[in-house]
Amino acid sequence: MAADRIDGKAFAEKLRARVGEQAAKFEQAAGRKAGLAVVLVGEDPASQVYVRSKGKAVLAANMNGFEHRLAEDTSQEDLLALVEALNADDAVDGILVQLPLPAHLDDQAVIAAIDPDKDVDGFHIANAGRLAVGQTGFVPCTPLGCMMLLADRLGDLSGMEAVVIGRSNIVGKPMAQLLLDANATVTIAHSRTKDLAGVVRRADIVVAAVGRAEMVKADWLKPGATVIDVGINRLPAGEGEERGRLVGDVDYGPASEVASAITPVPGGVGPMTIAVLLRNTLVAAYNHAGLDQPEGL
Ligand code: NDP
Repeated sequence: MAADRIDGKAFAEKLRARVGEQAAKFEQAAGRKAGLAVVLVGEDPASQVYVRSKGKAVLAANMNGFEHRLAEDTSQEDLLALVEALNADDAVDGILVQLPLPAHLDDQAVIAAIDPDKDVDGFHIANAGRLAVGQTGFVPCTPLGCMMLLADRLGDLSGMEAVVIGRSNIVGKPMAQLLLDANATVTIAHSRTKDLAGVVRRADIVVAAVGRAEMVKADWLKPGATVIDVGINRLPAGEGEERGRLVGDVDYGPASEVASAITPVPGGVGPMTIAVLLRNTLVAAYNHAGLDQPEGL
């Protein structure tokens, strides 16, 4: 029997609508809109697309968007000065610096300069540390979105075997922490893992965050597993109908014959990332204004 398709797009739309309603209530209570500042350095085409769609989503959710586009040759000093100004700006609740930065800039130093209470991407070490020790803080948007889909689908994850493939700071590691917090038994696999297929085969929950097109095969999966595919890979041009198609890290068609539920690419995890960014920004705004967060945000 074919697996259920986990509709991240529909889930994200509902979350965005809920955040939009609550952002309107925030405006009434605080006397101002919640605000997200997005900083883009340089001309990277993919980053420009992301920044544009984040800007539109922020406005649609009844929040203010402050876009700062800086030239490719912006100095580290000037970028840090902008971050400092945004930290001090009362109209700004969340700050997002679009990564990757041009090579002459130091990503880590820039992230470290962001006020952790405005770090809605959850990349600051203060927030990574809070997640590691189980304190409340900002959690990176993509793994938090994956967790929302898993909780919605499976409810209590207690005692389940979860395998996360990938150990990046923005997806794999925080994903593993969240699963651990939810009392799953967690394995983190990576490029040095031996017998990856064997490791994945014991998982009730598989989260693939690798960046390799259709790497996870159907026969790696335990029958009935729930599969979250974070990967976004564009197939190379020149392969007939396949040309330029977006695929995940999981071989979706065959895998959906074995799994019980699986996220598609596109339309799975991707739309959750921006929805969670809006949610994190609104949480930051409530904290910043000293107001109690509404239930269920
Ligand atoms: P990174 O490149 O930072 O990390 C990839 C991870 O995959 C690394 O830990 C690497 O291991 C591991 N890996 C690489 N090759 C293999 C292999 N053959 N077997 C097992 N593990 C392997 O990527 P990100 O975490 O940033 O992103 C992962 C994917 O998710 C990408 O496709 C990206 O586009 C997508 N993504 C999607 C988002 C969304 O909104 N849906 C948001 C963020 C990312 P090692 O550490 O040993 O090198």
